[in-house]
Amino acid sequence: MDANIFVLVDALGWEWIRGQPFLQTVAPYRCRLESVLGYSTAAIPSILSGRYPDEHGRLSLFQRALGTSPFASIRWLCEMPPALVENRYVRYFAREMVRRLHHFGGWFHFLGIPLRYLPLLDVSETLDIYQPGGIPGTESIFDILASRRTNYAVYTYHDGSNLELIGQMKADLRKRESSFYFLYLDGVDGFLHRHANDRASAEACLHRYSALIVNLYESARSHYSAVRLHVFGDHGMAPTRKVVNIQKRMDGLRVRAPEDYLCVLDSTMARFWFFSERARQEVMSVFHEEDGGEWLDETSLRSLRAWFEDRRYGQEIYLMPEGTVIVGSGPREIVPGGMHGFHPSTLHSPSAFLSSVDYGNRLSHITDMYGVMAEYA
Ligand SMILES: [Zn+2]
Repeated sequence: MDANIFVLVDALGWEWIRGQPFLQTVAPYRCRLESVLGYSTAAIPSILSGRYPDEHGRLSLFQRALGTSPFASIRWLCEMPPALVENRYVRYFAREMVRRLHHFGGWFHFLGIPLRYLPLLDVSETLDIYQPGGIPGTESIFDILASRRTNYAVYTYHDGSNLELIGQMKADLRKRESSFYFLYLDGVDGFLHRHANDRASAEACLHRYSALIVNLYESARSHYSAVRLHVFGDHGMAPTRKVVNIQKRMDGLRVRAPEDYLCVLDSTMARFWFFSERARQEVMSVFHEEDGGEWLDETSLRSLRAWFEDRRYGQEIYLMPEGTVIVGSGPREIVPGGMHGFHPSTLHSPSAFLSSVDYGNRLSHITDMYGVMAEYA
């Protein structure tokens, strides 16, 4: 039996490994993979399904509730005075309550979203996307594996730390029960978010991951007659050059959220829904020429395959230029050393693909990973 191994290394940026010996000895074939607009919430479903955000429906974690919000059940809590409820204990309680009530199996946290906005919002990822049926309405590689009754194994953060997952996979390789292995590692993403502005530490981290994957490949080789290794990411990581506090600018306006408008401030995108023309004008005027970003109009969103007729991800979306990160002013606010989620055409947006198999010039976009995985499913 052959072993077909797929390792998704979150934030494995092409710019970071391009000139590096990363996996050179075991996966000499490499290329750049263009990514999609958004974060892992958008990019990973694109990898798993071969589809774009406008097809699988995910662009960012939070969207405007189109029907009943899953947070409607905690409306009473969200509407209490912020001074009473805006603390981490109440937020933790609220999150756990929503998770239990709605059987959310996905990963989500409230980030910096004020509790009082929640009854107007919904979450795009509510199920475990690494399971069959995990992306409702879209066929993913895990649906293919299940329908073909392939013996496969999948390892994600649901089951342990990166090192524990590698350990579990090694133990399973010894048993030779599966032909398809999917391993998701989030350690590089976590490290680069903290240290992308320190090139030497970032390279040391990539070196550690390279060694771990080489070791995993060698262990597969000792138990299987043929091993095909594929290592790829979902997007890159841009070092932080500048931070902006959009919330602070909006605090000075006469219009208020969530009464006059609603907003979700992701790290690189500010997304808005307006309830009056005055709110639209006042809020949009807080962005200046020198911010260097852009309002994504219908034409740009359509060309990025991220246009939603119902504007569930925002009536207006402002995208920051590469390296500029939106931060808040909370006491526990941490400025990240690196961020992703900028325009897919920027230098650090593309991800990388490395393999022991030569696919020629067949791959150029993260959605192309689906076809390669389906071939061995
Ligand atoms: Zn990340």
